Amino acid sequence: MSTIPSIKKLDQAVVNRIAAGEVIQRPANALKELIENSLDAGSTQIQILIKDGGLKLLQIQDNGHGIRKEDMAIVCERFTTSKLSKFEDLSSIATHGFRGEALASISHVAHISITTKTADSPCAYRALYADGKLIPAQPGQSADPKPCAGNNGTQITAEDLFFNVPTRRKALKSPSDEYNRILDIVSRYAIHNAGVSFACRKQGTTMADIQTKNGASILDNIRLLHGSVASELLPVKNTFDQLGFTLDGYVSNANYSVKKMTFLLFINHRAVESSSIKRAIENIYSTLLPKGGHPFIYLSLELDPKNVDVNVHPTKKEVHFLYEDKIIEAISDTFQQALESANSSRTFYTQALLPGASNPTSDADDEEPSSSSTRSSNVPEYKYVRTDSRVTTLDTFLYNPENAARAAETLNAESSSTDSSQPPVASVTTTCSVEVIKKTRVEVRLTSVLNLRKEIKKQENAKLTAILSNHTFIGCVDDVLALIQHEQSIYLVNYTVASEELIYQIVLHEFCNMGQLKLSTPVSIREYLAVALDIERHNGTLPDNLVSNEEIIESITTTLIARAEMLHEYFSFEISAEGDLLALPMIIRDYIPSMDKLPVFLLRLGTEVDWESEKQCFYTLSKELALFYSAEPPLRSEEREDYLWKVQHLIFPCFKTHFVAPSSLKEFVTPLANLADLYKIFERC
Ligand code: ADP
Ligand code: MG
Repeated sequence: MSTIPSIKKLDQAVVNRIAAGEVIQRPANALKELIENSLDAGSTQIQILIKDGGLKLLQIQDNGHGIRKEDMAIVCERFTTSKLSKFEDLSSIATHGFRGEALASISHVAHISITTKTADSPCAYRALYADGKLIPAQPGQSADPKPCAGNNGTQITAEDLFFNVPTRRKALKSPSDEYNRILDIVSRYAIHNAGVSFACRKQGTTMADIQTKNGASILDNIRLLHGSVASELLPVKNTFDQLGFTLDGYVSNANYSVKKMTFLLFINHRAVESSSIKRAIENIYSTLLPKGGHPFIYLSLELDPKNVDVNVHPTKKEVHFLYEDKIIEAISDTFQQALESANSSRTFYTQALLPGASNPTSDADDEEPSSSSTRSSNVPEYKYVRTDSRVTTLDTFLYNPENAARAAETLNAESSSTDSSQPPVASVTTTCSVEVIKKTRVEVRLTSVLNLRKEIKKQENAKLTAILSNHTFIGCVDDVLALIQHEQSIYLVNYTVASEELIYQIVLHEFCNMGQLKLSTPVSIREYLAVALDIERHNGTLPDNLVSNEEIIESITTTLIARAEMLHEYFSFEISAEGDLLALPMIIRDYIPSMDKLPVFLLRLGTEVDWESEKQCFYTLSKELALFYSAEPPLRSEEREDYLWKVQHLIFPCFKTHFVAPSSLKEFVTPLANLADLYKIFERC
């Protein structure tokens, strides 16, 4: 016997709840709608309060135009909106939401209360809602809005989100996950609506996790919420009359590369997603950035609303629009132009020890040092427990580039008879111009290189890699040792040793793809070799054999000239047919090794590198480069500050992105203390 189930019409409340669940899938969706309403109401201040990732409480307070008392009864009904009165308006409306669905949807899955005051009303009104309708605060009372005290603007509170949709509630992972999504949405809107002040905090805390200022610029807010990427951004702006759209935004330059793309996209001022635009952007950058590298993009498009189809996805997140291909092409072209024109080279000055130079001063670049440090991460500031680029580290007490620059100015002012841009007389200046060479990344297929890379992996100590790649820099202890923090522990790192290994790995990793440090005045290899031989003989490191200096110099120079092409293709060297060195590889961005080491490096290219077998050649050459570029204490004390600065800002960040720690490094990374223990000690003090 079979029973035929009878078909029942679903209860209207259930239908509404299902519909609501499609629009509001999680707290962050609800909040997005509420933020958009506040912005539509002309607010300049928006404060958000969250409990349990928005599941317990989502509250938003704005200072916008408010809701009239007579409208309060219907704002939570479906299809009520002050922004749309006839169907044709659907196509021309420019405000954020325009379907009159958001408040209604939220009221079907949460307890809603609204307190609001318009400027012309003597007092504020408060009302509670359920399932789209006004409800009384206590059974038996009137449901009408009650007069109360309040400021101009609107406060909307949604409590117990999805209290009546248990399956949805269960599907939401964790309050902290939901809270991160909320912060993501708030930070997107805060950047796009720079000028409006946004605050977002958890209930029970006094510190806001996001707090932007009234009148801040977009860049200010990007810097605040995404950190130092703000110094690597290029503005993009264009109008395409024929396609009826404008674009405006900021895109990261070719120097910036992170593991995951940050893409803040707004179409007609709504945060949306578009996989086709995203793909086009990834395409442009794939030729500019190292493999696996991604950009930071903030892009605001204003399209003719007629052409936007926001109804594709219930949450209206993924959008499609008419003339998509043409518009995407226009966007791509604009980005390309911006990236190309930013490709001009920058110049750095560095001084080399040449024969007769008696008092060279420190390497110094002409850029503000801070601009060359890039935290290679796009994790918003608020997700850090402790950040290493903005919080005070020990180096504040050791070296402050600004102070140093000021000190240098004073020095120059004192010797005002000499041109301050000229180096001291006895030294010869070698200018390196650092060029960001835009070339398609070459995929390396040489077995020798692939094997060398594999060998690195084989010797890995995973725990040590984790320590270094997730470290927080504390400060240099001296010219060789630095303190870092990883989780609860503090470690002493011998960075002279560690940086040598690091450079070796980067050379293999960037094989064929390194940039160049161009020398303004060509360096005569012969002259430098002569200096090196003097040094070696002086140190007694070169046996007194029968071969004359001249013979050694000639033999090495000839070898290098003969290998110039290979050295260029694989290692970005430039050596002229006459034996002049014109360019060195740029192994770490903006990092110029101490030119004091150049003579000995050239000599060792002759004595230590095995030029015969391919794999041995790459191995020994990479090792020599590592020795040359590694962080070694400078010979002169006046170079110390600059050296420590480079160690912190150029070398240590690379441990986070490029490093596989070999077991052999273990003895050079010493655990010093466990923070938990230290705190215990402090507590006792
Ligand atoms: P829509 O935004 O599509 O009009 P909503 O359901 O989001 O639909 O909002 C319904 C109406 O409630 C809006 O049209 C607006 O008149 C009013 N409203 C909602 N939030 C606010 C607010 N923060 N300030 C002023 N009015 C608001
Ligand atoms: Mg709305």
